[in-house]
Amino acid sequence: MKELQDLIAQMTLEEKASLCSGRDFWHLKGVQRLGIPSIMITDGPHGLRVQLGDPTEIGLAETKPATCFPTASALAATWNRELIYEIGQALAEECKEQGVSVILGPGANIKRSPLCGRNFEYFSEDPFLSGEIAKSHINGVQSLGVGTSLKHYAVNNQEFRRMTINAVVDERALREIYLAGFEIAIKGAQPWTLMGAYNQVNGKFVCEHPDLLAKILQEEWGHQGLVFSDWGATNDRVEGLKAGLAVEMPGPSPENDAQIITAVQEGHLEESILNQAVENILDLIFNTQEALAVGHEYNRDSHHALARRAAGEGAVLLKNQGQVLPLSKDTRVALIGEMARTPRYQGAGSSRVNPSRLESIYTEMVKIANQERISFVPGYHLKDPEADPALIEEALAAARDTDVVLICAGLPEDFEVEGLDRDHLALPDSQNQLIEAVAAIHDQVVVVLSNGAPVEMPWVDRVQGILEGYLGGQAGGGAVAEILFGEINPSGKLAETFPARLEDTPSHGYFPGGPRTVEYRESLYVGYRYYDIAGKEVLFPFGHGLSYTTFEYQDLSITPSWISDSESTRVSLKVINTGAVAGKEIIQLYIRPTSPNVFRPDMELKGFTKIDLEPGEVKEVSFFLDKRAFAYYSTALKDWQVEPGEYQVLVGASSRDIRCRDVIRVESSQPDMTLSERDGHPAYTNFVSSAKISQEDFAFLYGKPVPANLPERKGNYTVNTPLGDLGGSLAGRLLLSFIEKQLEGLVKDDPNNPNAVMMRESVRGLPLRALVMLGQGRVNRGMIEGLLLMVNGRFIRGLITILRARKDMDGRK
Ligand code: BGC
Repeated sequence: MKELQDLIAQMTLEEKASLCSGRDFWHLKGVQRLGIPSIMITDGPHGLRVQLGDPTEIGLAETKPATCFPTASALAATWNRELIYEIGQALAEECKEQGVSVILGPGANIKRSPLCGRNFEYFSEDPFLSGEIAKSHINGVQSLGVGTSLKHYAVNNQEFRRMTINAVVDERALREIYLAGFEIAIKGAQPWTLMGAYNQVNGKFVCEHPDLLAKILQEEWGHQGLVFSDWGATNDRVEGLKAGLAVEMPGPSPENDAQIITAVQEGHLEESILNQAVENILDLIFNTQEALAVGHEYNRDSHHALARRAAGEGAVLLKNQGQVLPLSKDTRVALIGEMARTPRYQGAGSSRVNPSRLESIYTEMVKIANQERISFVPGYHLKDPEADPALIEEALAAARDTDVVLICAGLPEDFEVEGLDRDHLALPDSQNQLIEAVAAIHDQVVVVLSNGAPVEMPWVDRVQGILEGYLGGQAGGGAVAEILFGEINPSGKLAETFPARLEDTPSHGYFPGGPRTVEYRESLYVGYRYYDIAGKEVLFPFGHGLSYTTFEYQDLSITPSWISDSESTRVSLKVINTGAVAGKEIIQLYIRPTSPNVFRPDMELKGFTKIDLEPGEVKEVSFFLDKRAFAYYSTALKDWQVEPGEYQVLVGASSRDIRCRDVIRVESSQPDMTLSERDGHPAYTNFVSSAKISQEDFAFLYGKPVPANLPERKGNYTVNTPLGDLGGSLAGRLLLSFIEKQLEGLVKDDPNNPNAVMMRESVRGLPLRALVMLGQGRVNRGMIEGLLLMVNGRFIRGLITILRARKDMDGRK
């Protein structure tokens, strides 16, 4: 763009480099003399998080009220592209009112394990579904002139050691599972920005990964937007810039800006690379001006109503034996569980929104039904995992004298926190015991769950109904009440498998790895791709969700049913509402290669649609399938390839409820079919479990030796050694305990702030270099180098280095 280039030509090297780090936590810099404004970028993704107070302070402070929509797991469970688009637009309206240019999100990381602490912020275990939902979210926001930041690119599937862990993943899993969702969203929505993740992928930090950034993201997928680092994810600034990382967040980062200047002056960095980054920055800044130019006020009521609609569509009716639901308004209900009164509606961390209103299940139920028919008792304490016999007794007394028992259960707030993974899938004991006790004396028990990720349900066969409400946002309480009384017909379906037990999960034994690497030995076999191939029974399968009505699928046809991979085909069928009430159905299309020579999951989701049907109504639905629906990523060809042959087209109501099927023949337009041994590796073609994959087999698939995973030792510590690994040195131990004390203080000052708790809990995973960010202007790189010398045993040298760096810093002020 000519005007931008003219502007860049007027800028000094210093001005250009300075634009490459943020102004503070939540702004990009501007250049006043040239009329370039600074813009605000802030979290996301399921509501706006505009920090009150000083933006140079780490983001723990209170934030302005905003609409808290359901979190990503619930949004994905709607499988409703249009609804997600509408939510995107609502988010953009809130941004416009608050002067925010970019909202950070959505998150399209794959749920590799249900234990990942941020799964509530991610969509699915399936890349197609993740990508489609992310695409709608981005298109919705950006349609109103506000930017998004697709995150956390890429392979950021755990919180443990998230700032340093090296995710070791083979090329096919990378392409087919971990990048595929990002690819769909990038190609289909062009997010104005993308956030580079903290972790390393195959030995390189993402924010300086030429393959992931320059080659795949920019060249192959054609991403034209700006890339910035996750907060504190920059390791080597100049390498980052070369790979395509335009902005380091948060800022300012005068030392790294200076490194850019020196690199240009000394000829290590071509100025054209810097100019390109600056052009991307200016492009973003100017693009977002128009939307913010005119004052805007969003409608609080309609956003709240939208949040309620989304929560209603994202809730999943998992079990409904004997049609225990919906309840009639005259039913006598014992409502048990503190979460009915104190909603659990979002997770903790950078996505935590200050909700503009908040509904509880209890208050919303009594608005719909007669209050005298609903008796509430708490059943358990929110903050104590131990069962309280007195509360259970009280619950049993309430249950004895009622028609139906509703138990509101779920994960306590500190189970779903950015920075921390769970280490089990259980609900607190207090809740499991309560449910078992009540189920033993009553035969009409419904459990309503509030959690952002799967839990084990040891009582599944002893209760009659289960409604997964997910983290439904500020209006989740009302949505659940409406479903319970049949005012909303549930239509959500799981975007993830609920495994029966933690030991059944595909990455079990290889999650979260550490201290330095995490091996993705299960390769492609993530989520249902694993449970199906391993023949595992699950609690509830991917795609499952019930309705108060029933649907029939008929007349599947594929035209044409013989194609070349350069053509596409149309699959259509009829769906009929055969029940008595109106409802929505999510129709899922899976492809199964009939006799592949390379290892492949049994079947994969390649299409879905959601339709609305009155009782007796019939609708025709269609799907279009092209090459990618049948292709795998060939490591020989370094491209997508279709093996010629037959593929089954399976259409169903869930991954384990296929209602109709047919066959299509696909020819390859590739003249020479090259099959690599890696793609046909027997350990993977006969895959049973990742536990059975030896390191040798994995190394074969990976294509090179698997990196060592030993902790660093004193003498070899680096700026990337996590604080928790410095235990071999007295100075390291003292440093850790000093930082822990500071964070303890933060938590004491504000005990209800889960973000402070998150920082305290995750401090051991922070690398030394992160202290620059934590220090908020009081720590510089020189001091980190000094600390490094000290923890490596060179105490005096280190101290001198720190004192010098300190002096330097004072001199600059
Ligand atoms: C998180 C991002 C978030 C950023 C800003 C980081 O710690 O990983 O998701 O957008 O902070 O709050």
